[in-house]
Amino acid sequence: MMKLLLIGPPGAGKGTQASKLSEVFGIPAISTGDIFRENVKNQTPLGIEAKSYMDSGEYVPDELTNKLVRDRLQNPDCVNGFLLDGYPRTADQVQELDSILTETKSKLDAVVQLTADTDEVVRRLAKRAIDQGRSDDTEDVLRNRLHVYEEQTAPLISVYESRGLLVKVDGLGEIADVTRRITEALDSKNKN
Ligand code: ADP
Repeated sequence: MMKLLLIGPPGAGKGTQASKLSEVFGIPAISTGDIFRENVKNQTPLGIEAKSYMDSGEYVPDELTNKLVRDRLQNPDCVNGFLLDGYPRTADQVQELDSILTETKSKLDAVVQLTADTDEVVRRLAKRAIDQGRSDDTEDVLRNRLHVYEEQTAPLISVYESRGLLVKVDGLGEIADVTRRITEALDSKNKN
């Protein structure tokens, strides 16, 4: 039973580590970004609404995002825990998640903060723009995503830190090394 959040700037490697941790702990990795992209691809009403925000590097409105996560967490695959990748990203989303957890009488085990310096993040995302052709990886949009992250999401880290949930891990280096750092940090947190 493990309920985790993964938080960090665009390009810190959250998606990559989320899928590794999902295997390690046998819990679903839920990425709001992936769910939005899937909806955009299938041109669902949610996707049509989300697309303009995503393409300009803005956050999708809380109301839509909160509903999506609330529904997703009701899926039976979440009974043994979950890892949320890229949610919550705003103070309002933190509140919504708190409500969901209170209603289900459950608690988070830890919030993993994946750090990466801005130069490295920009380098990784420029490469991803070429490899994957994501429409929000262009330079202007990327700049805005980093700005929105600093403004709206970075402050949430201290909220979780003050609750004693934060585990801070360096996201630079080999993928397997980063995964090991995360699992070791979670282990030592559990012992305390
Ligand atoms: P990254 O972490 O690299 O910015 P994601 O794939 O996690 O990429 O998210 C892509 C886009 O999806 C975001 O820029 C935003 O528009 C939207 N999105 C994802 N998660 C959220 C969220 N929790 N709240 C609002 N918008 C979100």
